Amino acid sequence: MEKIIGHGEVVKSLTSALAAGRVGHAYLWLGPAGVGKKTLAKAFAKRLLCEEGGMDENCSCPSCRRFDGGVHPDFIVVEPEGNTLKIDQIRQVQHHAYLSPVMGKRKIYFFPEAETLTDVASNSFLKLLEEAPPGIIFMFVAVRADSILPTIRSRCQVYHLFPVSIAEIEQRLLELGYSPAEAQERSAASQGLPGLALGEPGDHSVSYIRPIAELIRLDLISLFKFDEELEKKDRKDILMILRQWETELRQELIRLDNPDSVRRAAEALGKVAELLVMCEYNVNVRLLLDDFFITMKRLYAS
Ligand SMILES: [Zn+2]
Repeated sequence: MEKIIGHGEVVKSLTSALAAGRVGHAYLWLGPAGVGKKTLAKAFAKRLLCEEGGMDENCSCPSCRRFDGGVHPDFIVVEPEGNTLKIDQIRQVQHHAYLSPVMGKRKIYFFPEAETLTDVASNSFLKLLEEAPPGIIFMFVAVRADSILPTIRSRCQVYHLFPVSIAEIEQRLLELGYSPAEAQERSAASQGLPGLALGEPGDHSVSYIRPIAELIRLDLISLFKFDEELEKKDRKDILMILRQWETELRQELIRLDNPDSVRRAAEALGKVAELLVMCEYNVNVRLLLDDFFITMKRLYAS
């Protein structure tokens, strides 16, 4: 976990809990997209599964090697089928959880998009969460706390991850071998989100995660073109981008003190929240986005 950018306090607390053998059976990682929730959760999972106790970052035990290779049989990723995690998937987990771990004493179920758990699936999950067999650990990742049912949330150790300082990101990028100019540019544009600074290749293209403040400076033709491109992305990527805008506007709202700007940012935030809800259900994302940007242009022109 030494390779993680930022979140020093969280890493320290997890490391000491692990050293003391105080391991929970459910964890919930919360924070904006790109802040490092999945990276941190996976790093911790690797240590929990390590055959040598998980205290050595460069351990090469069979478990760590398989984890690094993405083929650990006791690290099970549960991703949504389509837009939601369905009750059938939860039933499979319930069944699977009672089988012994393949390699060691622990087995981890990782839900990288826990907000896609439907209420029905969450409810059927509760019993398992309460009476999970020993060694079973659940890890949930979500952007917003209120997207997870309180009954699930209250059974988890919750970690809130906040944006990392720009200076820390820049420093780590230099350590990772970026040139000073690139480290400076990437960290300055990162909004404190290491995932954004690193561009997470393969996960999503960094050019799509553009700050809303930058987008609304474009003309409508360019915005419609952006919508057209965005529409081709997976729904979960689109939702991630919208949540990113939501986080950005929330942060802006805290910073602002001019009443007019506050009102405008609040209204924009409301529009993004609406868009998020509609995108979960509506098929025609492009029309929704076009409409959204027309409203935003009007809002920010006044
Ligand atoms: Zn190991």
